Amino acid sequence: MADNFCDLHMHSTASDGTASPRELAPLAKAAGLSAIALTDHDTTAGLAACAEACSELGIDFAPGIELSADPTIAKRSSSRSEPEPDTRVGTLHILGLFIDAASDHLGDIQVRLREAREQRNPQIVENLAKLGVNIDYGEVIAEAGGHIIGRPHIAQVLLKKGYVKSIQDAFARYIGEGKAAYARKDRLHAEEAIAAIHEAGGLAILAHPVQLKMGDGDQLAHFIKQLKELGLDGIETRHSDHSAAQVNHFQSLAGRFNLVESGGSDYHGTRKAIELGSQRVPRQVFDTLQATCKRDKADF
Ligand code: AMP
Ligand code: ZN
Ligand code: FE
Ligand code: FE
Repeated sequence: MADNFCDLHMHSTASDGTASPRELAPLAKAAGLSAIALTDHDTTAGLAACAEACSELGIDFAPGIELSADPTIAKRSSSRSEPEPDTRVGTLHILGLFIDAASDHLGDIQVRLREAREQRNPQIVENLAKLGVNIDYGEVIAEAGGHIIGRPHIAQVLLKKGYVKSIQDAFARYIGEGKAAYARKDRLHAEEAIAAIHEAGGLAILAHPVQLKMGDGDQLAHFIKQLKELGLDGIETRHSDHSAAQVNHFQSLAGRFNLVESGGSDYHGTRKAIELGSQRVPRQVFDTLQATCKRDKADF
């Protein structure tokens, strides 16, 4: 059957993708997708335009966001001290799907995350300068041209200036996690991310678990159990960074902890060699998530 696939993880020019929110709809149509979610990093700025374009083309749309969170599980508490930066490894991204972009609380979180980026990004540019790699932060801002400025924009400027051979090379040599110019920015706790997504009426999904760098053993299972206790609704099982064996493993973890499944390509346009729709996520995945979201709301 045609049109039987969805893609529930992608980025637009509102964050670090290269296709505009409107352009994603015809691209999805061409890729044979019947439903998509736009999940820009830390912003809902592209959702309205993408929703409108999807509706014009008869594509079902889930408004989404991808929140960067601290991979240290810590509950909010008055005595909480800032986590030791050097003890943190890996990336924790939490997707919110079927969110209400007008949520005030989610709006406040976006402001906070933007401020974190505004402190972190110039720090990376300074770190690069110490290595003799000189770029102007103004060029990075111009490269982003949108709402959210991220490392891919810094990578693009490094490429333009001839400091690196490719975007990937920029991450491998300078700005990837653990590299000399890297600086962390994650200060939103998982609990806060999940609560904000819930307050916006959405489902909280653990994005690309492989990026937590916890392996496939007990550490990851324990981490997912903790997130479940904080209200996590689902796991992104299919993702461009996951092997077939990992997809199976994450599906078994979803079953074990009673979490719904999501999946997507993490399309970033021309900035990454990833095709829209390439994860061939069954359309049923979208329908199940939507039904779960409606059921959760009915519980209140
Ligand atoms: P930021 O949120 O600004 O720290 O940037 C994170 C984004 O950088 C991710 O969502 C990816 O789009 C991109 N990214 C992270 N690591 C790599 C890598 N090793 N190669 C290419 N892109 C990467
Ligand atoms: Zn990205
Ligand atoms: Fe991510
Ligand atoms: Fe992403």
